[in-house]
Amino acid sequence: MHNRRAVVVGAGIAGLASAIMLSKLGWRVALLERRERLRGDNVGMVLWASGVRALRALGIDAALDAGGTPVHHFEIRTDERQVGSFSAAAVGADDGAPSVMIHNAVLYEALVSHLGRDVEVHPDTQVSRIDLVDLAAGDATRRWDADLIVAADGVDSPTRALITSGAPTVDAGVVAFRATIPAHRAPERGSEAVEIYGPDRRRFGYADLGHSGACWWATVPGGMRPESPQIQHELINRWFGDWPAPVGKFIAATRPTELTQQAVRFVWPLPAKVYHTDGDRGLVLTGDAAHGTAPVLAHGASLALEDAVTLGWALRHHPESVPDALHAYDRARAGRIRKVARLCRRAHLVASGGPGVARGILRAMPDSWLTSRAVSLADWQPPR
Ligand SMILES: Cc1cc2nc3c(=O)[nH]c(=O)nc-3n(C[C@H](O)[C@H](O)[C@H](O)COP(=O)(O)OP(=O)(O)OC[C@H]3O[C@@H](n4cnc5c(N)ncnc54)[C@H](O)[C@@H]3O)c2cc1C
Repeated sequence: MHNRRAVVVGAGIAGLASAIMLSKLGWRVALLERRERLRGDNVGMVLWASGVRALRALGIDAALDAGGTPVHHFEIRTDERQVGSFSAAAVGADDGAPSVMIHNAVLYEALVSHLGRDVEVHPDTQVSRIDLVDLAAGDATRRWDADLIVAADGVDSPTRALITSGAPTVDAGVVAFRATIPAHRAPERGSEAVEIYGPDRRRFGYADLGHSGACWWATVPGGMRPESPQIQHELINRWFGDWPAPVGKFIAATRPTELTQQAVRFVWPLPAKVYHTDGDRGLVLTGDAAHGTAPVLAHGASLALEDAVTLGWALRHHPESVPDALHAYDRARAGRIRKVARLCRRAHLVASGGPGVARGILRAMPDSWLTSRAVSLADWQPPR
């Protein structure tokens, strides 16, 4: 299948990983991204052992190349006490793959630096047309023909609606604020990640990011806030400033310009179909475009990386037939994606349940149950 042409729509984690994998297999790749610059966000994120394994399969070491900091311990607290914890080391116990906290922009740069030379990057390119008959993608003035289109255009993917119906984007009813704080200003923190469930369906979490400093995330019910970053910072301080230490210190150490606000949305129900074929060519949805999950369990990026690795495996095993490869890809991914998406949705329903629901349920869960869930969620190995 040498010198075949792929178009990847979207240069998020899913699109970049797919482009890396395709170029490793000898495809010529056009990577189309609507933003002017390829860059990640100033936020920290968890990459579970499954995501770390997928990165390794793409030739990227999460700690060495992408600055990931191994997390040894995850702790879940209510505002007054610890209610649960699990060992992150147990999550990757089979092969010692760590779970890591990682700076999104640093991970992004590692992915960009691994793009092969057969990847042509087209920033500032808003794909507005996908031709499913002659298989091509284009913006207002240009068109790229392809043997394979990878649609990695995020949770609001218009491409999803082209090939399947009944898989809408759902508003989770909460908004997330996130920030990273450079090491010299970051409050003291251990090697654990902590998430606190407070009253009124509010949550606050924080973790160490090694050389990149520290990060925190917070969710509150409601929609995107229209206020200036300065006012948003004041609101966050009002909502969380009196939570148990070191929450107030994290907020105080954050500059308003370091805040990122994000709507939280997910795809539900999942699409019945994630690929389309015509003749010997095809299109496949990957990453959030196919299965944007509620981020409560922080698995979206790992799933996106796993998608790319599994697509590579399928194309390697079916070098002469894109349709056969996409069929094999779907068979290999469907069960895993449904399992993770279902659990993420359930966790979201618990986290956003009425006052006290999450805290009550969390208090009733033994640590062994939390560990076994986390292990089961990260239970993925690159297919061979
Ligand atoms: C608050 C929050 C916290 C999270 N925390 C974690 C975490 O800790 N761990 C984790 O694993 N996951 C986490 N996630 C989820 C994770 O961020 C996503 O699952 C992941 O980034 C999805 O990557 P993607 O490439 O599929 O989509 P995106 O990152 O959305 O990328 C899509 C890309 O496509 C481009 N695009 C869209 N339309 C077009 C078009 N028409 N033409 C050209 N380009 C286009 C966009 O500009 C974008 O660059 C979190 C999500 C949220 C909201």
